[in-house]
Amino acid sequence: MKVIRYQDAEGNVRYAAQLPDGTARCIQGDIFGEHRVTDERADVKKLLAPVAPVAFLCIGLNYRQHAAETKAKIPSFPVLFMKSPGALQHPNEPILLPTHLKSSKVDYEGELAVIIGKRCKNVSRADAIRHVLGYSCANDVSARDWQKQFGGGQWTRGKTFDTFAPLGPCLVTPDEIPNPNHLRIRTILNDAVMQDCNTSDMIFDVPTLVEFLSGSTTLLPGTVILTGTPHGVGMARTPPVWLKPGDTVTVEIEGIGRLTNPVTTER
Ligand code: MG
Repeated sequence: MKVIRYQDAEGNVRYAAQLPDGTARCIQGDIFGEHRVTDERADVKKLLAPVAPVAFLCIGLNYRQHAAETKAKIPSFPVLFMKSPGALQHPNEPILLPTHLKSSKVDYEGELAVIIGKRCKNVSRADAIRHVLGYSCANDVSARDWQKQFGGGQWTRGKTFDTFAPLGPCLVTPDEIPNPNHLRIRTILNDAVMQDCNTSDMIFDVPTLVEFLSGSTTLLPGTVILTGTPHGVGMARTPPVWLKPGDTVTVEIEGIGRLTNPVTTER
């Protein structure tokens, strides 16, 4: 099932199932628990990110060709960093280039997002997908200057500015995506395809990440795992490509959809 979260005309936040004919039907109940699709047509005034995340757990250097383009060694364990839930951005809403803490090196990273549906801990690889509510598209927007030169030796500063975590346009439940590590993933900047890869290039696949991240660590419902980006990021290009006001970035994943955000400047 394809599920959207949206605001209706009264400002209520609701969930709906998106049907193949383009219409959406309201979901009643708790998306993380008991719920059902009703016959009521969804009146979508504004599309929201498919969940309000409780945490973003992000994996760096998780695609072989991306590790190669950044001249990094293939990691022995997943590289973990975090974004604040406050960095969330909805589909079609702008990515803001920071001006208060000024960055001149803001980059895109198209990523497969995994949304945890059930509170879990010490999950085995074999059992991992049972705890997944769904998959979505994400953009791990990254200010490379704050990630590297001014980051104090870790990545979070440059990765958690407001609007640096676009998520959407929907979530797709695991019954429709039997293998999350066999999906084409592309990032398109304006009209140019910048990233074009397959999630099969991941070093640590989705079940392995859920096992690793839940080890001695409770994952709460609504945790969003960003699974790393493929090769083709702006910083690895000659000359480098940085986001600028007026740009539009789209992350597209096979079987999920397209997440599009314009780029503008923080006021
Ligand atoms: Mg990333």
